[in-house]
Amino acid sequence: MAEPRSELPATLFGLGEKGESTPVRVRFLPSAIEITMKDQGPLRLTYGSVTMELGPDDEFWVFKGHALSKDLLIYINEDSLPDIIRSSGAHPSVIERIDKLASAKEAHSSGQKVALALFVLFIVVFLAGIYAGVPILLDMAVDRIPVDWEVSLGAAAAGDITRNYGECTNTELYTALAEVTDRLVAASGDQRYTFNFTIIDTNMVNAFALPGGRMFVTYGLLNVTDDPHEVAGVLGHEMAHVTERHGLRNVVANAGIRIMVAIIMSGTDSDIVDLVPLAGQLSALAFSREQERDADAVGLEVLYAARLDPDGLPRFFDRLAADDTLLEDFMEVASTHPVSADRATEIRSVISSRPAPTIAPLATDWSTLEKRCTSLPVKGIP
Ligand SMILES: [Zn+2]
Repeated sequence: MAEPRSELPATLFGLGEKGESTPVRVRFLPSAIEITMKDQGPLRLTYGSVTMELGPDDEFWVFKGHALSKDLLIYINEDSLPDIIRSSGAHPSVIERIDKLASAKEAHSSGQKVALALFVLFIVVFLAGIYAGVPILLDMAVDRIPVDWEVSLGAAAAGDITRNYGECTNTELYTALAEVTDRLVAASGDQRYTFNFTIIDTNMVNAFALPGGRMFVTYGLLNVTDDPHEVAGVLGHEMAHVTERHGLRNVVANAGIRIMVAIIMSGTDSDIVDLVPLAGQLSALAFSREQERDADAVGLEVLYAARLDPDGLPRFFDRLAADDTLLEDFMEVASTHPVSADRATEIRSVISSRPAPTIAPLATDWSTLEKRCTSLPVKGIP
């Protein structure tokens, strides 16, 4: 007969006050459970006199018996208990009883594992819905928005800009700019949008595009560049924000899931779907780094197609990188930092991987062009 294994720690209830527990040691003998407690001789409960069950959550083995005129409960937390009883030389009927409990315990624990796995799966799907589901909703909503509706969104914001800054009235400057922009528009190949360029009467160096094709370039930007291909590079980039619908996308994203769902379900006819009041947010919603790179890439294609110098934008970035004060002004093309050097390098690596571009010269001599705007003081001109 195998020697009983060494003692196991257990918790005994029922000896003291109601609910009070006593830490004990138990040994499994061939015919009885022997309980040893402090300051007291061992107590034996024969297997025939105890019942065996599983405790809360099937975590504990529980033996119920009667001794010292008391009902006793022994809680044991030991996974290998069936093996211990089996090796104790206990009667097969005792082993059968503990094995039954062991199967129930095992089933419970594997059930818990399945439940846990399902719960984890639910969380993963839920989080994936948040991170992947929203961009899908956003794509669907943006695809549903017609261009004319996008144009009204842009027009609402355009009013604020011209009111705040005023428009440059230098016709010579407009003529020079048109030479660049006509080529860009003809090359863009996107028939959905009518591009409309306004020169803003401010020294700030900036250019930006509104959804629908309203384009703005500041006098300050035209003044600081001495090469129309730089201007072309910047405006090609801005036009790409329009054709890629970046501004529109940001407004819809910012409007929230309820608006996205409303657009998808009912289109833009619905009263709930009115993004025009949100036009004011356009200036506050910065383009993401990814959108900037996207606009760089799409704009570059337009420059190639327009036979304008694809190195114009990188040269403009060089200019920004060389002058911190310009970078402070420049909110759009350089709105994500670190900007100039990285993106110039990226664009130039694309250019160098291709055959040399064919550049058709522009008629305007940018260096002798009078870039002044009527309302600006002459001291603004270097
Ligand atoms: Zn941009």
